[in-house]
Amino acid sequence: MSRCWIALGGNQGPVADTFRDAVALLNRVAGISVTRMSRCYTTSPVGANAGNEFLNAAAELQTTLPPLELLANLQAVETQLGRVRSVHWGPRTLDLDLLLYDEQMLSTPVLTIPHPHMWYRRFVLDPLAEIAPDVIHGGHGLSISELRERLLSRPLKCVLLGGPVDQRVDLQRQLEAEYPQTDWPTESPESAWLAFCFESVPQVEGIPDANRIDVQAFPTAPEQTIRDVLAAALDSVRSV
Ligand code: ADP
Ligand code: MG
Repeated sequence: MSRCWIALGGNQGPVADTFRDAVALLNRVAGISVTRMSRCYTTSPVGANAGNEFLNAAAELQTTLPPLELLANLQAVETQLGRVRSVHWGPRTLDLDLLLYDEQMLSTPVLTIPHPHMWYRRFVLDPLAEIAPDVIHGGHGLSISELRERLLSRPLKCVLLGGPVDQRVDLQRQLEAEYPQTDWPTESPESAWLAFCFESVPQVEGIPDANRIDVQAFPTAPEQTIRDVLAAALDSVRSV
């Protein structure tokens, strides 16, 4: 038996009801049992296409299914509850993400665990910290509540690395003006806990892997990726 945590999110239709239906459908699958559920949290949409305010929650599962089979079941429930995959990061009735599966680390084309974006997202960490504060995130070696607390410090220290210097300097100026809650130390980049990397170059040695965001790996433009990540990291989340 394995213990897993999933994130639930949505911003179309009666989302809290959809979450309840999702839990009921998951409980009907042989080999899955939902053992804890957080409250619901309202969060701002992230990304230009996202639409209305989101509702987010987290749940703990016990399962005998291996990770890929569990993911297939999560996706089947998304489909049953009306999710249509159209715009990337678009509005959705239900998004179910697999956050943690015991302490497994896995990276395949269809599944990465721990979920690669969970560590900088308040809309994931706040609900998860409610039900799993002391669980350790293997990739970072920090507990869920420690990951969340890192996001609360102000100013939030960030750094831009790689790419043409001129582009970086201009962008940093813009970001400093747009996000007064952030600080961009150029003297000691290793003190930043959010490192936005334009290329994977050895100059980022000293910045632990765990704090790196490879902006080229995202489907959106680098500047938009950085804004999306900052929005998710700085967003304050309200429980409802
Ligand atoms: P997102 O959750 O990023 O908004 P989707 O729900 O459309 O976007 O997921 C896109 C793809 O992410 C899925 O088809 C799935 O194969 C992949 N994926 C990789 N790792 C995970 C994970 N830990 N949990 C859920 N999906 C994942
Ligand atoms: Mg998803």
